[in-house]
Amino acid sequence: MSLDLFSDTHMHSTYSDGCATIAAMAEAAFEKGFTTIAITDHVPLPFDTRYAMKMEQLTAYRKEITRVKRAYDGRMAVKTGLEIEYIPGHKDWLASIASMEWDLTIASVHTLVVGSTPCLVNGNGDEFHTCLDKNFNKDIRSLCRAYYQTLQEAVQTGWFDIVGHLDVLKKYNIQNRFFNETDAWYRKLVEDTLDAVRDQKMKLEINMGAMAHPIGIPYPSPWIVKSAQKKKIALVMGSDAHHPGAIGKNFDRIQDMLA
Ligand SMILES: [Zn+2]
Ligand SMILES: [Zn+2]
Repeated sequence: MSLDLFSDTHMHSTYSDGCATIAAMAEAAFEKGFTTIAITDHVPLPFDTRYAMKMEQLTAYRKEITRVKRAYDGRMAVKTGLEIEYIPGHKDWLASIASMEWDLTIASVHTLVVGSTPCLVNGNGDEFHTCLDKNFNKDIRSLCRAYYQTLQEAVQTGWFDIVGHLDVLKKYNIQNRFFNETDAWYRKLVEDTLDAVRDQKMKLEINMGAMAHPIGIPYPSPWIVKSAQKKKIALVMGSDAHHPGAIGKNFDRIQDMLA
């Protein structure tokens, strides 16, 4: 199955937690030879975070991508995208944003809500430990189950084009510290999620930004990408770049990893 290594469908700008403007990200991508990019800032959320776009910025965000898109017309496709974090308790809020016209939407899960307290699975190490210890009573299986169930629910909404960083919950699972991906219970959660992605005709992102995270291998792991290929799920490349230097980083390593 072909992989377009000159398309980067996941990156952030100063509209959310990125370090550079949309124009600067597009310019860097163009100089690197990309033919397609998507700007995919974090969806506004109805509560304070350190990473989400502010709701009042959404209109300006869409206008600015349209302006940059025109500037690169005929040279590089610039897509109006959004990384939509799916939180079941805020489904109506998210639905109203997802239903706007987008070229490309990514389904992501960063936050899990157990009781009334949300916790971040892909934040810093302390945040992951708080999530595991306090929200899930140190039960990694419950955390994994909650994560994949939330992701499956996101996929089943039908709002999305791409599933982002499918196994981001492994961010701190260095040397199988918390769980082993070869365990049958874990594999089933992953396979069920891939089946949902296939049934919705969504694409699977290979997120190379993970190479700079503690775990140091892509999201999802190569065995998951291979399983997706068997299920005929289309693949797209994403850097999850938060600065120009990270656009397309390590894309040239994926073929060897899947060999
Ligand atoms: Zn994300
Ligand atoms: Zn992202």
